[in-house]
Amino acid sequence: MLKRLVNEASFPFTIKNLGPLLIKSGYAEVSGYDMEPVQTYRNGKLEYYIPGSSLKGVLRSHFERIARTINTTPGVVCDPFRKANLAGGDGNPVTCEGYEEVSCGEKFQLNKAKKSGRYTNRRIIQPSNAYVYKNSCPACRLFGSTFFASRFDVSDGYLKPGSRKDVKKRDLVGIDRLTGGASDRAKFDLAAICAGAEFESEIRLRNFECWQLGAVLLLLEDLSHGLIRIGYGASRGFGNVTCDLSRVTIAMIGRSNEKQEQILGLGAILSDESYGTSKDDFLEPESLPEPKVEGIRTKWEFSGKELDDLRSVALPHLVRIIEGWPQRDEMEWDPERWERAANG
Ligand SMILES: [Zn+2]
Repeated sequence: MLKRLVNEASFPFTIKNLGPLLIKSGYAEVSGYDMEPVQTYRNGKLEYYIPGSSLKGVLRSHFERIARTINTTPGVVCDPFRKANLAGGDGNPVTCEGYEEVSCGEKFQLNKAKKSGRYTNRRIIQPSNAYVYKNSCPACRLFGSTFFASRFDVSDGYLKPGSRKDVKKRDLVGIDRLTGGASDRAKFDLAAICAGAEFESEIRLRNFECWQLGAVLLLLEDLSHGLIRIGYGASRGFGNVTCDLSRVTIAMIGRSNEKQEQILGLGAILSDESYGTSKDDFLEPESLPEPKVEGIRTKWEFSGKELDDLRSVALPHLVRIIEGWPQRDEMEWDPERWERAANG
């Protein structure tokens, strides 16, 4: 991605669980429970926390659902876990079932590979940063892929000072997968964080397009409305959370700070569409906070009415961009590209 930093935004928020919360630790625990919440050392003490990677995972899946709801074209966002399976050839066209859903990273990998299994690539591409960004689906543009680092970071969520942090043991019964009844052998116990714990985290965006501001605002709104479950056991009533976003800071860096009545996205700053962005990538909220100029940075801190005004232009902008997301030829299946090797 672009080496220089042109803009950035930060969204500090608090997550509060309304019911039991269990983000599993990947390691065997010494406590003797089958599952217990992940902990980390902080200020010399072990404490519960919400790993940023878990939050990022659920936010990405939720964003994929939003994008697929706004724009029902298959493959408008990729399935980040979907691989490509080439088939056919030998006189028949080479095919790949469900190619539109294959992850963007896998597609770029295929486009630059000389071979995939017994197939040879007749049109090898060396993907540049601009090529990758331009052709990535909205989810990969925002959250990153195996081909470029994310411009979306969410920090680990640490307990707010003074927060509740009690944990309770629960006995659960597994469901027999064959009969659907309770399975005697599948009894297990776990420890979960009780309702009312508060964790502080922060989302940061760098070199954002304005629709991405809208996406983060919508994700945090859905999180605050309890529409996104986190951690283990959503079907058992775990992971029900709410969140509170009280302010958003946006900064323009360098020459991009000249238009102080507009928030400029990457597209407006680049203004050449080389990254597949649009020149009209800016927002004009009804009110803007007083900007603070710090060296080469112009900063706005949004809260209250100004934050509401920002939301009311950023969300429709997001919907408009996702609705009109262009088909990219490079991401379509091209049977001419692949040839089955003679000895394959
Ligand atoms: Zn993608």
